[in-house]
Amino acid sequence: MNDPAAGDSQTPASVGAPSERQASLERDLRGAAGRGELVAHFQPQVDLSSRDVVGAEALCRWNHPTLGLIPPERFIAMAERSDVIHEVGEFMLAAGCDFLTETTRNGYTLDVSVNVSPSQLASPLVLEYLLEQIESRGLDPSRLTLEITESLEIMDIELVSDLLHVVRDLGVGISIDDFGTGHTSEEQVNALPVTEIKIDRSIVQDTSADAKRQFRHAMSLAKKHRLRSVAEGVELSEQMSYTQNLGCDRAQGYLFGEGVPLAEFINNLTARPPADRSR
Ligand code: C2E
Ligand code: CA
Ligand code: CA
Repeated sequence: MNDPAAGDSQTPASVGAPSERQASLERDLRGAAGRGELVAHFQPQVDLSSRDVVGAEALCRWNHPTLGLIPPERFIAMAERSDVIHEVGEFMLAAGCDFLTETTRNGYTLDVSVNVSPSQLASPLVLEYLLEQIESRGLDPSRLTLEITESLEIMDIELVSDLLHVVRDLGVGISIDDFGTGHTSEEQVNALPVTEIKIDRSIVQDTSADAKRQFRHAMSLAKKHRLRSVAEGVELSEQMSYTQNLGCDRAQGYLFGEGVPLAEFINNLTARPPADRSR
């Protein structure tokens, strides 16, 4: 497969040793949001009882001027190692707010989830930015959820706890992403003002007895703490029925659609006939 970030085209970011390529890519990422190279895609989330689209997750894409579209797995970790993550993070928070503004303007009441990195949460900038966006646009904060990664270590949990409590006091939701993959799931649910768990696709897609046990455990935790549950990576209708039978509230995955730009997302909402919901 063609690997844009490690590619072989004649561009500064693609020649030289891997470390040089990485450094070059890192330089390119600085200011990418301001130059219009970052794009937010929105992937639908469906309510499992009504089959209606009830929200979306905002996913970041980088349209590199010479390397083309670069997926987040190639640049988020890199951005996290420097302060560039704040540029990416603010761009995506603004994109999430654009989603709320535009879908509301088109007559829909939907939720949006935005991924935030642990390093973003180490700074109060994210909070200031969030507050300013919500207030200046007159948004309903309960429509916005921040997804924090399950890979947070215990030490990080303590570091981000105060900030997340302030975020929650604003009315914004907090979701634990990739739930079930790490070893701090329960600690996070206990220590942080969590409103949602997002069960990782490795659990949703695995039919082994062990994965099923993990899924049931996650669902009982969600029930106990009254958290919304979202199953991610739902690709097959059997996976949809299975997650629904386990009592999951929402699902996200290729069965319902992949991430698309905002205009296309809104077009899809209008074009989707009610009969389609019986899938
Ligand atoms: P994630 O938050 O777990 O996002 C879900 C990923 O799974 C997305 O990949 C999505 O396209 C993919 N996916 C969705 N449905 C399915 C499915 O049915 N099957 C399979 N196999 N995959 C599915 P994507 O967009 O490449 O994002 C990868 C990761 O990059 C994200 O994982 C998230 O950790 C990170 N990321 C993306 N956008 C941002 C962002 O704005 N900020 C931060 N901090 N991280 C981001
Ligand atoms: Ca996520
Ligand atoms: Ca995830």
